[in-house]
Amino acid sequence: MTMNDERKSHFIREIIEKDLRDGAHGETVHTRFPPEPNGYLHIGHAKSICLNFGLAAEYHGKCNLRFDDTNPCKEEQEFVDSIKEDVRWLGFDWDDREYFASDYFPQLYEYAEKLIDQGDAYVDDLPAEEIREFRGTLTQPGRESPFRSRPPKENLDLFRRMKKGEFPDGSRVLRAKIDMASPNINLRDPVMYRIRRARHHRTGDQWCIYPTYDWAHGLCDALEQITHSLCTLEFENHRPLYDWFLDRLPVPHPRQIEFARLNIGHTVLSKRKLLELVERKIVPGWDDPRMPTLSGLRRRGYTPSSIREFCRRIGVAKFNSIVDLHVLENSVREELNKSAPRYMAVLDPLKVVIVNYPEDWEEELSAVNNPENPGEGTRKVPFSRELFIEQNDFREDPPRKFFRLAPGREVRLRYAYLITCTGVIKDPQTGRIRELHCTYDPDTRGGDAPDGRKVKGTLHWVSAGHAVSAEVRLYEPLFDRRDPSETNEGETWLSNLNPHSLRVLSDCRLEPTLKTVVAGQRVQFERTGYFTLDPDSSPQRQIWNRIVSLRDTWAKIQKKQGSRTT
Ligand code: ATP
Ligand code: MG
Repeated sequence: MTMNDERKSHFIREIIEKDLRDGAHGETVHTRFPPEPNGYLHIGHAKSICLNFGLAAEYHGKCNLRFDDTNPCKEEQEFVDSIKEDVRWLGFDWDDREYFASDYFPQLYEYAEKLIDQGDAYVDDLPAEEIREFRGTLTQPGRESPFRSRPPKENLDLFRRMKKGEFPDGSRVLRAKIDMASPNINLRDPVMYRIRRARHHRTGDQWCIYPTYDWAHGLCDALEQITHSLCTLEFENHRPLYDWFLDRLPVPHPRQIEFARLNIGHTVLSKRKLLELVERKIVPGWDDPRMPTLSGLRRRGYTPSSIREFCRRIGVAKFNSIVDLHVLENSVREELNKSAPRYMAVLDPLKVVIVNYPEDWEEELSAVNNPENPGEGTRKVPFSRELFIEQNDFREDPPRKFFRLAPGREVRLRYAYLITCTGVIKDPQTGRIRELHCTYDPDTRGGDAPDGRKVKGTLHWVSAGHAVSAEVRLYEPLFDRRDPSETNEGETWLSNLNPHSLRVLSDCRLEPTLKTVVAGQRVQFERTGYFTLDPDSSPQRQIWNRIVSLRDTWAKIQKKQGSRTT
């Protein structure tokens, strides 16, 4: 993996450099990326991955991959596998440092007994709703449970019997004994263990009590000797709780640093909501090219390097904001502009007959593969009497400033000839244009007029008899609103879905060179955007996904839609 040299300084880097100077956590940097295996990774996770793996690499340290699998009900092997695939695809490697919170269940259990022993934890028999009620509110202190003063010996006995399965689900919990009057609700005797007879995707039926995320998370970091534990801002209020646990146990003390989570306009970045889109079949799967998941972006045609570049550009900050979608689109567009070979493809075909071109004739013309990189050379494109151009490159009654084809007008067919429109053939019934008749100037082979006459429009085209038929899918954002969580009365975030997020063009014609392209390859179709061949394609039927348009049309659309998107 190549690192971008242009490093952006940010507050996390400054803290780490200071710690390294002071030797606060030894001489190394050891981070981790800690996903819960309850969904597919999204572009927000990419920010965290790039940060954790990136900083470790930068300071010659290490980064662990740790699955925070403390909730047996929502976690699955499918998610573990997809997460590993996505982290690798993004270009990062955890070597042999693959860990699971569930691997620490025995150790966590021992530490819980230790806290009980020390008088720092107790078994509570209050039902869940009363625990909630006793917790108080932001403005009111909580109340102590009547079971709070149980002696350690009794707590230990009950806790052991909880583990053995002597009590029904939900009948008792283990709680930390901290402070029911704390202004920080996280410190009001938080629950550490629940009884729940649920099969865990790794430990099976071995356990019937499960640690809470808050009890497990900070300790897992400590057990792995993480030096810098980077997390999103929501965990700022949990830090005093993690500190409280760590201070009472014989473990090292990682430094937790919070940063703002990534939000992107016109999309949702919450696994719960993404799961809902999949379960309600609003999209066919986690890897639908409209999804902000890494698997969706991969299928859409995004490159790993463009996503890393995006994460570099947005940087890290301490306050939440929404990043514009075009920042993401620009990252991939700029990369593909340099790397993607050009081809001609007609998405919405209109037939053109060159009436003065011999019927039994065809020729091969030379087309440039990538004007950004002359080293990529040229290819041959067949030309014949019958061609296709785009419907919207012709207007029978052209408005001012329309420089493409119109009756009597001359345009350039890229890499081919100058042609002039001499006739418009319509369906007598519907009045729809069926084909255009044009003449070509044989002296303009290659597209230049020897007499130097000016021709403003240049069109892409394909030879009808040689073209490959294909389906092309054009995408728009999944949501109309910049912030999909903003709703009118009686609406939910789903009311903001964009009904036009997918447009399928089923009768596209591509130049024949594209027959040999393999799935995942990325190309530019001249004048219409960057595209990639979808893995659902077959040799009989190609399906192309538009990755991104050629120019940033987004700003224009936002302006047009007015306040709804701003
Ligand atoms: P979600 O809200 O999508 O369910 P999560 O925080 O529950 O996200 P985890 O699997 O716990 O998902 O996330 C793993 C790591 O990725 C955490 O350290 C989390 O802070 C980070 N992360 C998750 N979402 C974002 C985001 N939008 N921006 C930056 N980091 C994120
Ligand atoms: Mg989380």
